Amino acid sequence: MQIAADKVVTLDYTLTDDQGAVIDRSQEGQFAYLHGGSNIIPGLERALEGKQAGDELKVRVTPEEGYGERNDSLTQEVPLEAFGDADPQPGMQFHAEAEDGQTMAVTVAARDGDMVTIDGNHPLAGVNLNFDVKVVDVRDAAPEELEHGHAHGDAGHAH
Ligand code: ZN
Repeated sequence: MQIAADKVVTLDYTLTDDQGAVIDRSQEGQFAYLHGGSNIIPGLERALEGKQAGDELKVRVTPEEGYGERNDSLTQEVPLEAFGDADPQPGMQFHAEAEDGQTMAVTVAARDGDMVTIDGNHPLAGVNLNFDVKVVDVRDAAPEELEHGHAHGDAGHAH
């Protein structure tokens, strides 16, 4: 069975950056997604189209097909008191309310005395993503999975 829209695909993958550092990894069939459901980044989803169980492939995804380019305007300094009782340290993530009222995830980039620099970019923005992928399984999605727009089962969403 080939990977196409409305198939549930189980993958083993290793994701590294251009320096070879491992960013993320899933092994032993612990990751499944619904193909065509925008569950995974577009560049990877497109590369998997037409593949089948047992296929192995290397996929390089540029930021524009991945998590986007970095936007420096999403970096700003805020006073430490804005964090209340929290003790922000570089690398920690917080949820902040943007001017439009939307909640966004921000990462603490730096802390200098009473000022904290936060970064609203996705941690993988601007990063080339190198996927080493093995297709473990391809099956038809169940009606409930299509309705929810994601994969269920051991490697998918648990409700
Ligand atoms: Zn569901």
